[in-house]
Order: sequence, then C-alpha cells, then structure tokens
Amino acid sequence: MILIQEHPLVGQLVNAIGAEHVLRAPDLMAAYVVDWTGRYCGDALCVVRPGTVEQVSSILHTCNIAGVGVVPQGGNTGLVGGSVPAPGSGAVVLSLTRLNSMGPVDPVTGQVSVGAGVTLAALNAHAKAAGWVFGVDLAARDSATIGGMVATNAGGIHVVGNGMMRKQVLGIEAVLATGEVIRSMSGLAKNNTGYDLTQLLCGSEGTLGVITEVSLQLIRPRDTELIIAGCDSVEAALMIASRFAGRLAAAEIMDRGGIDSVSRVTGITVPFPTPFHVLVEVTGGVSADSLEDLEHVTLAMDARDRENYWALRERITEAMAVECTGVSHKLDISVPLADLDTVYREITTYLDQPGVRDVVLFGHLMDGNFHVFFTTDTDGSHEEALDIAVLELVAAHGGSISAEHGVGHMKADHLHLSRSAGEISAMRGIKAALDPKGILNPGVLFTH
Ligand SMILES: Cc1cc2nc3c(=O)[nH]c(=O)nc-3n(C[C@H](O)[C@H](O)[C@H](O)COP(=O)(O)OP(=O)(O)OC[C@H]3O[C@@H](n4cnc5c(N)ncnc54)[C@H](O)[C@@H]3O)c2cc1C
Repeated sequence: MILIQEHPLVGQLVNAIGAEHVLRAPDLMAAYVVDWTGRYCGDALCVVRPGTVEQVSSILHTCNIAGVGVVPQGGNTGLVGGSVPAPGSGAVVLSLTRLNSMGPVDPVTGQVSVGAGVTLAALNAHAKAAGWVFGVDLAARDSATIGGMVATNAGGIHVVGNGMMRKQVLGIEAVLATGEVIRSMSGLAKNNTGYDLTQLLCGSEGTLGVITEVSLQLIRPRDTELIIAGCDSVEAALMIASRFAGRLAAAEIMDRGGIDSVSRVTGITVPFPTPFHVLVEVTGGVSADSLEDLEHVTLAMDARDRENYWALRERITEAMAVECTGVSHKLDISVPLADLDTVYREITTYLDQPGVRDVVLFGHLMDGNFHVFFTTDTDGSHEEALDIAVLELVAAHGGSISAEHGVGHMKADHLHLSRSAGEISAMRGIKAALDPKGILNPGVLFTH
C-alpha cells in the first residue's frame, strides 16, 4: 500500500505550488474534509491552496494526467456535501480561498472583478465603500466565497428582488480539467458568439471547471422598510407578501419551531403568538392603510429592530444546530406558489411520525422555497427513506428537489426526480466533453 506522503502526485503538486500550500497532515486537513453540516466526511490525498490561476492550471493539468479526482472548495458552507471528498476517494481538495483579490468598482457601470476566494462579506464591504451593493445575500456571508456561490448558483434572501447568483455574473475566468484556462471577463452587455460558457459554469457545482475569477454587476443601494407579521397559514403569509408585489426586496417565512428556537438561543423576543411569522422588506415606503387589516403586524423602527427581526429568520439554522441532537436532515425544496400551502401541510403531516423530531420549515416565501429541517436518532436506510419520501412528494407537485443549495453528493441519486432522462443525458454529454476523465468533483451531481 502506498503511504499518502509517498504518492508521486504529492511531490509534483509541491513542485507546482510550494510545500507550504500542500497540506498532508491529518490535523491540518481535518477542516477541509468535513462539510458544514458534519454529515459528509471523506478523506483526501492532500489539500492544495493555490494563489494564482497559473497554479490552479498546473494542479489540474497534473491531476488530470494522473487521473486523480479534484474537489474544488470555497468557504465549505455548502449544505449538500459537494465541497468535500467522498470516503476513500483519495481526491485532492483544491481550496480557492487564497484567490482573494478585488479589483476597483467601475463608477459608471458598477462592475467589479473579484477572485473566486473573496467572501461575500468582503465583497459587500468593498461594494459599499464605492457606493454600491451586491444583489445576493445569505446568512453564511462571512465564509461563503464568490466562487462557491457562482458554482452553486446561490440564492438567498433577495432573489425575489434581484434574482439568483447567475443574474449578477457578467463573466468568468475558469480552469478546465485539462488545465486549459478560459476567460470571458470583458463585461460586454452583448456578446452573441456561440455557447454561453459563463452561464454554463453557474450552478455546475465544480463538475465542469474551477472558477478562479468572476466579473460581477453591482446595484445601487435602495431604501427599504421591514415589516414583520404573524399569521395562521402559509396561504395567509403569501397574501400578506403579495400585496407588495413588484416592490419586494425580500419575503421570508418562519414556522413556530424555528423562530422559538432562535428566541431561546438568542433571547430575542418573538413578536406574535401565531403559528407563522412573515418578514417582508419593501421598497417605495409602506402606507398605514396597507397594513390596517392585519391583526399581528409591526414595522421595524430602527436598525436594532431590523437586526432582531432578521436574526429571527437568519439564525434558525444556527439555533437548530445548538439545540438539536441526533442526525440533522436539511432539505431545500421549491414548488409552484399555488401548491406551497398544501406542500407545507403534506410534509409536516408526513414527518409527524415516531423517530422524527424537531421538524421546522422556513425559507424564501415568494420563491416557493422551503428549507425543511428535522432530526433523527440514527442515519440508516430508514432515515434516508424519509428524505426520499419528502423529495418525491415535492416532485409530485412539479417542484424541485434542490431550490438553491445544489445537488452535491446528497441528492445525486435523486436527480431524476427533477430532471428528465433526456436532460440528464445531455448534462452527462457536457460533462464528458469538458472533463473526459471525470476528475472534477467525482460523485457530485451524477453518482456514476
Ligand atoms: C447558515 C447558512 C445559511 C445558508 N443560506 C443559504 C441561502 O440562503 N441560499 C443559498 O443558496 N445557500 C445558502 N447556504 C449554502 C451555502 O452558503 C451556499 O451554497 C454557498 O454558495 C456556498 O459557498 P462556499 O464558498 O462555501 O462553497 P463550498 O461549500 O466550498 O462549495 C460548494 C460547491 O461549489 C463548488 N465550488 C466551490 N468553489 C468553487 C470554485 N471556485 N470553482 C468551482 N467550484 C467551486 C464545490 O466543489 C461545491 O460543489 C447557507 C449555508 C449556511 C451554512
């Protein structure tokens, strides 16, 4: 058996980027081989931390010749196990966090080019200093990287107003499996010269290329009002949000379990005794008569109110992690808005069974997107069947088994629930063309 440190590839990688940035000791690699949820844990031949696109190219060229898998990794905040190697894979983890340069914000167009390893929080601070903001925001902002967010086509709290990650992306520099660098960073508004490789890479989850730099469109900040309302059903929540259609910057829903957990963990008071709370951020002001028929409603009066109300939504995942024991299940589904109320009832009724605890649903209301959280004591085939049953229920309503987190390892077996055989075959064809040896993120998106 070849010892990890004796594998010839490691020496080649050391030559390519320097020993300091090739991690081999188990304690140094530990944080790179376990995902944020703790549910996915693999092992790696080594972790490499390149500092330039040339080094990324050299790493991929070397691994492709050796036929060794490469797992691109940004902030490792992904929730479907896509950023860590599978057990026994012996893949190389390619951490992009050192690619953290940020170019100047163009004062006319609001365009900016940043390295793939720049965190969302750093980009936001950079944009703000120049009088702009970035259109996508999510709770993992301090660690999630722009490369990872493009690779997952991340959504977050402002999709209803600004669209998903792909909508903010103007161009990409990426390295293909062979080491070939492709670059489309001119920021042109119009460029109809064949296939749109930039958009192809958005949402490709590290299976088609490694993103090294991204050209992004920023937006001007807008004044908004934040409303929090209590209501009895998902349908009622939709009716509250829809009265502001066209002016929505965010529309989120929390059921009782999640919001109570945040309150216990943080001490923030839950405003109303209702089964649901809905958080609605709107542009263009809120008149008193637009809310007067609502029994449970209030406006955020200052920055502290805003922070507290947003915390009741954004800290649910963290609070559940603090309070819940056992195996946590995190599903991320979307359905047509017309079916959202029914699907909520069907999922909660189904999960009301022995062995299932801490069932909490929350998410991006007007995107028809629920995050479904629950815990079980064990992690065997019965527990997996629970996940599958929920995904099948969603598919039966014409929904998606992954609204914004991607497929990763977690849902690779279930892709057929959201994509036709023809679509999967076309996707496999694209993968084979760009990565013939299948070295990029093996086991993600497709199981084999
Ligand atoms: C508390 C919390 C809240 C969250 N909220 C949201 C939310 O509201 N909306 C949402 O969409 N997601 C959310 N997420 C999930 C996660 O933050 C996003 O998926 C994010 O886009 C991942 O970015 P990352 O840099 O951490 O990527 P990673 O987790 O490191 O990787 C994610 C995937 O992208 C690939 N990848 C990473 N970097 C690159 C690169 N440079 N080139 C090619 N492939 C790459 C990886 O191989 C992997 O498949 C949340 C996560 C947490 C922990």
